[in-house]
Amino acid sequence: MSKQLILALSKGRILQETLPLLAQAGVEPAEDLGSSRKLIFDTNLAQVKLVVIRAVDVPTYVQMGAADLGIAGKDVLLEHGAAGFYEPLDLEIARCRLMTAGPVGARPTHARRRVATKFVNVARRYYAEQGIQAEVVKLYGAMELAPLMNLADEIVDIVDTGNTLRANGMEPREMIDEISTRLVVNKAAMTMKHQQLKPLIERLEQAVVARRVA
Ligand code: AMP
Repeated sequence: MSKQLILALSKGRILQETLPLLAQAGVEPAEDLGSSRKLIFDTNLAQVKLVVIRAVDVPTYVQMGAADLGIAGKDVLLEHGAAGFYEPLDLEIARCRLMTAGPVGARPTHARRRVATKFVNVARRYYAEQGIQAEVVKLYGAMELAPLMNLADEIVDIVDTGNTLRANGMEPREMIDEISTRLVVNKAAMTMKHQQLKPLIERLEQAVVARRVA
């Protein structure tokens, strides 16, 4: 195994909050990630490279060892399943909740509830645990639309302020999980590259603590 470390970052919302933490931990991209079409970036550290990919792909890269570590939301990790990587650190950013939600005041009437979500694995697990029969319908976006269009009785989605739900006549129902951004590490790399990984994980942990008290 090469002694280089590849760190996979989630594009989008999480990235903006991740970069200051990384900088605090001593890792800075060699160029502006936002203004480039590149996907692989050098950093100020010769042995650390960054790849910037879709959040849903981060667990796959880390599980397969294409990246040694990754940063992704717990929602994405729960949906992917936990095999192949460790989750040593909660970065305590991009906090939100994974919830069921439905039209205000409505109670699901179908004996077999129809649920629209992009988190199909999470939803199937959750309803099974609750003993609720659910037909889970996969959507790729705008979950709030599904009950309005009679496509579903309920949705499973990420809720932060609740504004998106309210704007569409919906309300949160049950909480499935508290979500935040996590550091994940490939299991083989954790052993084989322990010497390089350990100080980096420790510096990230210190950055999380420093941010907490700031
Ligand atoms: P809100 O209207 O504040 O409840 O935000 C809800 C929408 O914002 C959801 O539909 C999500 O797509 C998105 N969102 C909010 N927070 C996060 C987060 N931490 N990670 C990913 N998506 C989020």
